[in-house]
Amino acid sequence: MKLFNTLTRQKDEFVPITPGEVKMYSCGPTVYNYFHVGNARPFIMFDLLRRYFEYRGYKVTFVQNFTDIDDKVINKANDEGVTFDVIADRYIKEYFVDAEGLGIRPADVHPRATETMDAIIEIVQKLIDNGHAYVAENGDVYFRTKTFPEYGKLSHQPLEDLQAGARISVGEVKEDAMDFAVWKAAKPGEPFWETPWGKGRPGWHIECSAMVNKYLGKSIDIHSGGLDLTFPHHENEIAQSECANGCTFANYWLHNGFLTIDNEKMSKSKGNFFMVRDAAKVYGYETIRMFMLSAHYRTPLNYSEETLKMNQASLERLYEARNNLEFRISKAQNETATAEEQEALTALAQYKEKFIEAMDDDMNTANALSSIFELMRDINSYSNSHADASRAYLQGAYDLFMELTGVLNIVQKHEDANADLDTAKIEELIAQRTAAKKNKDFAEADRIRDVLLNEMGIAIKDTRQGVQWSRV
Ligand code: AMP
Ligand code: ZN
Repeated sequence: MKLFNTLTRQKDEFVPITPGEVKMYSCGPTVYNYFHVGNARPFIMFDLLRRYFEYRGYKVTFVQNFTDIDDKVINKANDEGVTFDVIADRYIKEYFVDAEGLGIRPADVHPRATETMDAIIEIVQKLIDNGHAYVAENGDVYFRTKTFPEYGKLSHQPLEDLQAGARISVGEVKEDAMDFAVWKAAKPGEPFWETPWGKGRPGWHIECSAMVNKYLGKSIDIHSGGLDLTFPHHENEIAQSECANGCTFANYWLHNGFLTIDNEKMSKSKGNFFMVRDAAKVYGYETIRMFMLSAHYRTPLNYSEETLKMNQASLERLYEARNNLEFRISKAQNETATAEEQEALTALAQYKEKFIEAMDDDMNTANALSSIFELMRDINSYSNSHADASRAYLQGAYDLFMELTGVLNIVQKHEDANADLDTAKIEELIAQRTAAKKNKDFAEADRIRDVLLNEMGIAIKDTRQGVQWSRV
């Protein structure tokens, strides 16, 4: 499998540190609100990468954090007059609601910054001890960027350029403008933790370095996140981790492109965002997932009503094909495949090959989806022109269709089609109508039939087997 590696700026063949195993870390949300459709892109796509590795037989350990202490969380808590953990707890819970809707599996570990404090303090102490970080006079701890000559290697910016662009902001007491905070001294009224060098809270970048250490080890295979995290967040993670551990932090760095709206990055600060929660009410969660899969994760993807509706229609076509196959399987008269059907089944394997080829090519989900649609058209055309298709053919076609859509985690739902109906009420009205007919009260029987039809959208049909009802 080839993956585009931001570090090398090319598609590199994936070679795991331990054969057959993948250690992955992805930067998760800051939990002060619901997440928007832009945030959903890395969550969906990197969970999918993990699923795909599993499909190919790897044992994957996947970690994604929750940043539960930072300025935004504290500000929101102050606005509401509650403590920061109330905000964090609430939006972590809400994260899992939307994630489940979107078909994102929970990571193996979802560490919270505040629950990883021991590991954070340990790595900061290590950096202070080995001279890569220092405690400033105001109690902040800064990373001494110049002590890491490789700084800038991920974002491909020479140290001199970064030096020229660096500024010291108000309140910072740094030796050098390029230095960045790994720890912030406690401010009045803010939550703090005790450390050997004083009270305070972690800077943002250090939590990921500490969590990778704690849950995955010093060196991992894949580190991922949105493109905007490349600099400074990931650059700083590399500096901290490699200076603390003296070895390569992550071999492959993957970054998803931006989800845009009117061709501008969707972001909370610009106010041009849609919460997943709200978009799902309009289009359904699975449509949002389908929309994400419709583009390769590194290309920009524009959010619009038109595109969402298009993806909704595509998804419906896939469901229709699946439902049709299920129906045909249940009704099939012939059990075993004819020689012609054997051949037709064997030919379907080409779509699986195409699917794998696409996914192996830096997880090109757009092409992977195309191969699923080709498979669907092939199956539809064969089964439509062969009313007597055997169960063996139909089941074989179905299994392959479900296998490939299953990797992308779409078209897997078997919802009760009548889940939204009050079936008990319908049955009761039908029983009342039958009783009325028995009593020759035809006016009442007709009235009940009209109630079912006009108020509940249910049509009834008298058959020899009894009354059948259906939606109109
Ligand atoms: P945040 O909660 O802001 O730290 O973001 C969580 C994740 O969403 C990070 O990996 C970001 O890079 C990513 N992200 C934020 N906005 C977008 C966007 N418009 N398109 C794609 N990814 C985004
Ligand atoms: Zn991170």
